[in-house]
Amino acid sequence: MKILIINCGSSSLKYQLIEMDYIKVICKGLVERIGLDASTLAHEDSRGYKQNIKAKIENHKDAINIVLNTLVDDDIGVIKNLNEIFAVGHRVVHGGEKYSESVVIDEEVLNHLEEYIKLAPIHNPPNIIGIRACRVLMKDTPMVAVFDTAFHQTMPEVAYIYPIEYDLYEKYKIRKYGFHGTSHKYVSQKLSEILCRDIKELKIVSCHLGNGASITAIKNGKSIDTSMGFTPLAGIAMGTRSGNIDPSISTFLIEECGYTVEEANESLNKKSGVLGISGVSSDFRDIEKAASEGNKRAQLALDIFHYRIRGQIAAYAAQMGGVDAIIFTAGIGENSIKTRKACLEGLEFLGVEIDNNRNNIRGKISEISSYNSKVKVYVIPTNEELMIAKETLEVSNISCF
Ligand code: ADP
Repeated sequence: MKILIINCGSSSLKYQLIEMDYIKVICKGLVERIGLDASTLAHEDSRGYKQNIKAKIENHKDAINIVLNTLVDDDIGVIKNLNEIFAVGHRVVHGGEKYSESVVIDEEVLNHLEEYIKLAPIHNPPNIIGIRACRVLMKDTPMVAVFDTAFHQTMPEVAYIYPIEYDLYEKYKIRKYGFHGTSHKYVSQKLSEILCRDIKELKIVSCHLGNGASITAIKNGKSIDTSMGFTPLAGIAMGTRSGNIDPSISTFLIEECGYTVEEANESLNKKSGVLGISGVSSDFRDIEKAASEGNKRAQLALDIFHYRIRGQIAAYAAQMGGVDAIIFTAGIGENSIKTRKACLEGLEFLGVEIDNNRNNIRGKISEISSYNSKVKVYVIPTNEELMIAKETLEVSNISCF
């Protein structure tokens, strides 16, 4: 059974066609610069055959069109007919309080997603356009929404209610939602498989460290707290996002530094984090290189990044009454040997002991804690697409029968 995964970002669209019978990626691709000049589609099939297509792609509807046409193209296509696709899984960033699980999309679901645009103004609109375009072109194919927020809907009130006027929660739904849920769910389930232990017995801290980064406390298989918040700006320091700062800084930027609201937003989302501190880059490879060459601000950016992660891991261990395992995933978590080592330094009191030889790996499932470490530490590459495909198959199968 073939499942198509669609992930519409603000100016990009990623896709994968997966054969679920033997978990194989048939093809994948990326449409970039949607709505800008020089838009492109980079398509690659399972034999490694790559094709770059330049086209005028004005919006996500055009992007969906070109992707679906490519899938069935006589020369570079991988299927003969779109009917071969059993279901389409759409990554949707915000499912509000309503969706704690993936759901088959109908008009009612779309109406809810429209409602949540106010909670995710950058992300939900392209998600919705992508879904609508697919529904037009693939009328009889089930569409499933898999939400970044859903996994965190198990958080208790003490974790998700902010200490602000309670009316603001009731009236505007201002609360912690959390993101990267699909990734945290995938790696925590994978860990329970690797350890051959029931996830319901485990206390896990999952560190998803990519351009966007979040840490989640997972107890008995459920998210009980996570570092991102009402928006993905909260939590630890990130590539370009500030993470948690004194909230008065936003109003200070406007009232005292002469920023407009848009500029303040842009500063905290796009010019902060390790880029803001180092002035070098948001890419950890560049920052690690600059730091090793003696750039003090690059070193400070790394130190702050590690400091906050270490503190968050310890805080979640406290909230769960202990920790059995720590997971590192996403670009930095999977690849940065230095980051993993530095984040864990100082956590020996929890029973964390890293093995430097084992830690000397990139991008593959590995235990990196020492044989005697009380807390198991693993690198587990994330696979959000596969998780979305699995959920899509499960939910659309249920709804078919
Ligand atoms: P996102 O999906 O949020 O865009 P990724 O999960 O792809 O991000 O992670 C991107 C980050 O991973 C970048 O900061 C990049 O520098 C970092 N990264 C990738 N490879 C390495 C490496 N070998 N060493 C250090 N950081 C790396």
